[in-house]
Amino acid sequence: MTGTKTIVKNKVILAISAHPDDIEFAAGGTLFNLNQMGCQIYLIVATNGENGFKIDHKPRSYRIKTRHKEQLKAAEILGIKKVFFLNYRDCSLKNDDILRKKIGLLIKKIKPEIIFAFDPSNRTFESVNLLHRDHRVIAEASFDAVFAARNRYLLPGEPHSVKQFWFFGCDRPNHYENITKYINKKIDLIKAHRSQFNEHESMEKWVKEHLSSYTNRYKYSEKFRIVNITQPFVKEIN
Ligand SMILES: [Zn+2]
Repeated sequence: MTGTKTIVKNKVILAISAHPDDIEFAAGGTLFNLNQMGCQIYLIVATNGENGFKIDHKPRSYRIKTRHKEQLKAAEILGIKKVFFLNYRDCSLKNDDILRKKIGLLIKKIKPEIIFAFDPSNRTFESVNLLHRDHRVIAEASFDAVFAARNRYLLPGEPHSVKQFWFFGCDRPNHYENITKYINKKIDLIKAHRSQFNEHESMEKWVKEHLSSYTNRYKYSEKFRIVNITQPFVKEIN
């Protein structure tokens, strides 16, 4: 048995994204389901996503404000407990000590058992959108921050050990989550990011086509590479 069926109630989950809307596109149906199951979900949004603005030509400050507002609206639909905006410039993310520290300290504060993040092993470069540099950078930074958070010396505060990654944006999925029941909710979540689309109907068609193409088993699914984090030679902290 894999997937959300193995996640019992009341787990703490941290989702980490590069831009507002990443989580909704990649894992909106699954996270909505987990919220319904009683999990507490937190979200980190690393950049302001101000360069992914599809409607009109607006000043930078307006675009940032709009994307934050849209993310908060989607987070409310998803039932996210808190959104942490790191406020990096869109397309300028770097996996450096500062970014790893920011994410690592939030991991120590929130103490998630499960982390949803971009898959750092996807190096197919088959899509300029999916393999966007910010996605590649946040993927590695999320992975590195999990290491830093469980180490006693790298960051201040008590160590925290994350148990499992749910990597999205993966090219080698090992789990398809059935989100057929939540497809309309998922579309609503994406629609909350109004600045990303000129036309809702074509977006909805595109999203549904994608989600129905991953596996024959379900009408609509989201795909993940689930990785259990093991720490050899050291007793796991329960
Ligand atoms: Zn993105």
